[in-house]
Amino acid sequence: MANVLVVAEHLDGKLRKVTLPTITFAQQTAALTGGEVHVLVLGNGTDAVAAEVAKYGVSKVHFANSPVFENYLAETYAPAIVKAAQAIGATVVAAPSSTTGKDVLPRVAAKLDAGMVSDAIAVFDDGGIKFRRPLWAGNVLTTVEVVTPVKVITVRTTDFEAPAEGDAAAVEAFDAGLAAPDNAEFVSFDQVKSERPELTDAAVVVAGGRGLKSGENFQMIMNLADTLGGAVGASRAAVDSGYAPNDWQIGQTGKVVAPDLYFAVAISGAIQHLAGMKGSKTIVAINKDADAPIFQVADFGLVGDAFEIVPALTEKLKGIV
Ligand SMILES: Cc1cc2nc3c(=O)[nH]c(=O)nc-3n(C[C@H](O)[C@H](O)[C@H](O)COP(=O)(O)OP(=O)(O)OC[C@H]3O[C@@H](n4cnc5c(N)ncnc54)[C@H](O)[C@@H]3O)c2cc1C
Repeated sequence: MANVLVVAEHLDGKLRKVTLPTITFAQQTAALTGGEVHVLVLGNGTDAVAAEVAKYGVSKVHFANSPVFENYLAETYAPAIVKAAQAIGATVVAAPSSTTGKDVLPRVAAKLDAGMVSDAIAVFDDGGIKFRRPLWAGNVLTTVEVVTPVKVITVRTTDFEAPAEGDAAAVEAFDAGLAAPDNAEFVSFDQVKSERPELTDAAVVVAGGRGLKSGENFQMIMNLADTLGGAVGASRAAVDSGYAPNDWQIGQTGKVVAPDLYFAVAISGAIQHLAGMKGSKTIVAINKDADAPIFQVADFGLVGDAFEIVPALTEKLKGIV
């Protein structure tokens, strides 16, 4: 059986939204391989996550509850994923192209002697299953064929929609039979807690650039984001200048986002920034330079001073949303 195994991500007892487009990718792949989509949930106390993910048109969910998986460690997750993949006869193993997915799947590929594709944005049959992935900050799209029997894929989740909900699939306990590793130990997880939605999950993102000139001036970006229930992002230049924290960075070396609505405020639109946001459904650019490259990708452009436009826009929106 040429099944597809999806490794689910969850945080604080909730399924992370990045898992859903990964399931869509798996469904498209399974339609080509003729196999089923199975989902693996590793953790400790994962029953609710397993029940939730079962609703998204998959064949079966396997969940492991063990203190060994309480905290993510590549040293425990990789062998468990390998074991599950072998048990279900997976020929494709997929995970979101997130920090965790990028950390664990190369190890899974090595253990399965499998070829790997990172950041897949499409799968199709062209005389064999092929994958498309971006290179050079998205300026080149390449088609890749993996010739090993098992293929391991991280999925660019902004390029796939979430699957429709349907009847709940069977949920089954999975015993990985693993003990805690003796070569690695979980020390701590410093999670950034915020009332705002997670940047990669948010429907609205308001991002600021170096043109804001200081960290204090990011307050107006936060005010606009909060008015719209959105997340806050930043260009790398703003992060490097110390105006915004690292985990807000969007772009080639930051996060990739594709919200319904993206505001680029005082961001010039360098290709490395566009690589992280050009898939957004509607892009609004606010920049005082009418020739700024960001206007080439913007659906709506406001040429003017962000220090006047953003507070005025926020006030107007407060009366509407
Ligand atoms: C290998 C590599 C990886 C990179 N990865 C990333 C990445 O992941 N993300 C990323 O963002 N960049 C990345 N960069 C950096 C990228 O090349 C740009 O330097 C960066 O995106 C520029 O950020 P910016 O637009 O905020 O700043 P600038 O290019 O300095 O633009 C500032 C903009 O603000 C406008 N402005 C100034 N004042 C105002 C005002 N009062 N009102 C309105 N507009 C105003 C200006 O007209 C200008 O367009 C990377 C570069 C390299 C080489």
